[in-house]
Amino acid sequence: MLQTLAARLLVLDVACGGFRVGMFLSRLLNEFWEKEIRPDLLEIGVDCDWDHESIFVINLDKARQVWRETETSLQLGPLYDYHVLMDTVVNQCVRALQKLCPCLTDIALEQIQVRPTVPFEEEWSLPFDIAFETQGTTIAFPDAKTFSPRVAEYAASQLPHKARLLFCFWNRCFRAACHEIFHCVQNLIGQTDSSTSSWVAEHDASFLSASLLAYALRDEAKLLGILLAQWEAEIVHLHALVPREIKLGYTQWRDSFGRVAPWDPSVLSGHGLYVKDRLAFEALTFNEDQFKTQLSLILEDRKGDISKIPPKCLLMEYPVSSDSGENLIFPRL
Ligand SMILES: [Zn+2]
Repeated sequence: MLQTLAARLLVLDVACGGFRVGMFLSRLLNEFWEKEIRPDLLEIGVDCDWDHESIFVINLDKARQVWRETETSLQLGPLYDYHVLMDTVVNQCVRALQKLCPCLTDIALEQIQVRPTVPFEEEWSLPFDIAFETQGTTIAFPDAKTFSPRVAEYAASQLPHKARLLFCFWNRCFRAACHEIFHCVQNLIGQTDSSTSSWVAEHDASFLSASLLAYALRDEAKLLGILLAQWEAEIVHLHALVPREIKLGYTQWRDSFGRVAPWDPSVLSGHGLYVKDRLAFEALTFNEDQFKTQLSLILEDRKGDISKIPPKCLLMEYPVSSDSGENLIFPRL
């Protein structure tokens, strides 16, 4: 998709023809970006070969026109085709899991499929209308491009940057695909969870999801960089907003490897995204062997009610890598 965008900019580049972006014009464009270009475009634009100076412009008016055209095409173009995006990410993740998990060799991961959520657009349903969820081996995703004004307004109200609706959901498709796919795997290998609100299953899917994203996109360093930067920014944003008891609950949940729910659902709710995204980000590893260890701890020899079958790491000692500083790969009990 980013290649498509780069190609589109290249076409615009040829259409504009003329002068290479020099220091002065770069400054001018920076100013222009700050004032007029939507931040999501700017962030995507960073990935568009600016290092190689492939964008040519003649003057500010032309630049403005170019960017407006680009923005229009971005809104309508394949960059925001969430169905294609979800399909692509899920397929990439399936291939990664087939390669890394011997325990999944006989499991038909190809069954996993995606479909857009059908929103109810009622007051009560709005949180669900914009949520990702798994039923069996089907991952339902919110198609932000088809949101009605009401759903879009609600979705925007939940985001750190209200103007970045499409870009935020573009990011979330990557993250959520890597989380939901583990719910599909749990279903396929016969894992169930009788704990309150399935917090053990939520823990496990979150614990593995960012590492899966990093592995699945290991050849797409720039794309991964954009996604992780956005991810971190959203966690920091949420961290500033959530109450202290949620942060304490999160720590309990994380350090008990999911066995202690982060909160009592009769008292608190609505912070699932914060705890799940934060755990995923904290457990993220770029090391293939560590990721394999994470996968085997969670998935191997755990069939049945996982709230009653602790992973092996709770029963034996595992070394913590001393040089990487990734001491969150293993639970601290
Ligand atoms: Zn989940």
